[in-house]
Amino acid sequence: MKTLDYNTIDLSKEPPVKEPERQYYFIAKAKKYVMEKSKEAGRPLTFCVVTFGCQMNARDSEKLTGILEQIGYREETQEELADFVIYNTCTVRENANQRVYGRLGQLNRAKKQNPHMLIGLCGCMMQETEVVEKLKKSYRFVDLIFGTHNIYKFAELITTRMESQRMVIDIWKDTDKIVEDLPSERKYSFKSGVNIMFGCNNFCSYCIVPYVRGRERSRSPKDIIREIEHLVADGVVEIMLLGQNVNSYGKNLDVPMSFAELLQNIERIDGLERIRFMTSHPKDLSDDLIEVMKHSKKICRHLHLPVQSGSTNVLNKMNRRYTKEHYLNLVDKIRAAVPDISLTTDIIVGFPGETDDDFEETMDVVKKVRFDSAFTFIYSKRTGTPAAVIKDQVPQDVVKERFNRLLKEVQQISSEECSVYTDTVQEVLVEGINDHDSTLMTGRMSNNMLVHFPGDDRLIGKIIQVELKQCKGFYYLGERIKE
Ligand code: SAM
Ligand code: SF4
Repeated sequence: MKTLDYNTIDLSKEPPVKEPERQYYFIAKAKKYVMEKSKEAGRPLTFCVVTFGCQMNARDSEKLTGILEQIGYREETQEELADFVIYNTCTVRENANQRVYGRLGQLNRAKKQNPHMLIGLCGCMMQETEVVEKLKKSYRFVDLIFGTHNIYKFAELITTRMESQRMVIDIWKDTDKIVEDLPSERKYSFKSGVNIMFGCNNFCSYCIVPYVRGRERSRSPKDIIREIEHLVADGVVEIMLLGQNVNSYGKNLDVPMSFAELLQNIERIDGLERIRFMTSHPKDLSDDLIEVMKHSKKICRHLHLPVQSGSTNVLNKMNRRYTKEHYLNLVDKIRAAVPDISLTTDIIVGFPGETDDDFEETMDVVKKVRFDSAFTFIYSKRTGTPAAVIKDQVPQDVVKERFNRLLKEVQQISSEECSVYTDTVQEVLVEGINDHDSTLMTGRMSNNMLVHFPGDDRLIGKIIQVELKQCKGFYYLGERIKE
């Protein structure tokens, strides 16, 4: 996190135009208002950041938390009790939107009990015009609404809200801007997500992401490396490089650099032990990347490679730009180079026009590849995407039946695949105390599987050797090998 003395900023002057200096100015200003509010309340003010959706949102939430802490919100607490609540929303599937509306209703009741409470909404769902219209009309108690492109302006928007006492809405259609060096507060001391790019240019026909996250922009390798070096100096041993399609990293840079080259540069950072990345689009996964993974000592033995469907016909309508055969060949190539790799995937069931035969092709890919795990989704119609206007929607009962069959197959294969490491010794990064049994610690293997074993919290953040004694389907019980 940036350590800057915000008290030295002269608030009698006009705010700077340049970023991030402008935001430092507003952090200082918002801090003054929060201090006043806290005096009025007679206690430190609390906050709650609620994250919906993917790893990108999780990383954005760390940035929101960093700013809230810098401006003086002290402790994170439950949402009904907090003085500042922000929902970082997702809109990939329709049910994500419904969940937000439901929770907002409850939050309104809590706000009536707490005159200091402010409610903010940000993230992908806010990029949809109908959503903002609905909020403006029926959710007047919301204080602040902003989207995915101007999250860096959080402190400035809070200041505007505190000065105006009215609902503040700031949504941008798109941006080519990347603002570096803002505060962020990591959830874990030993691991962190690192954005390497923002947005997406792929326009898969079912997907709303390109419309709500904008065009693809890569961060400069210099900024990425500098951020990782700082993280490592601050105790981070594992990083997850984040992008909607990491394999197309660097294409729009002034001096283009491939993702494989970026990985090689990151690998050279002393003290960094593990590198993960997501997500990889099968159409762009290069032989160079496979070579780099093969020789790397730090890249984890896990690849998330969303297939979406096993039918070339459906893939075509999805605008995925690969065929079933291409995907299966790619899997063979990867496994030949990195035999112990764990492969996971995303699958959508019930894309418009999906026939029984198309679905059988998906089942065939699942049986052939034998994924270590798979996220299975029922197709959700997203207004504004090309697939939403395809007439041929699959009846719900047919989708349900296919979905259940797929899930059963995926789970069966997954439990068989996961047990192959029983009685081996694996390196495990210890992540925390087990949620259900405080005598156990929980760690993660290179292949992303979880292991629970007796230990104590002094191990958190360390990479240790654990013997895997028993496979429990999706995780292991193990014992630490003392070195
Ligand atoms: N960029 C990543 C990729 O291309 O694989 C994933 C982004 S998306 C947030 C995560 C997953 O949500 C996708 O892989 C897809 O399986 C699923 N998804 C996206 N749009 C969907 C929709 N309209 N209905 C159901 N699932 C969807
Ligand atoms: Fe959506 Fe496709 Fe972009 Fe992934 S690659 S975010 S699925 S449009």
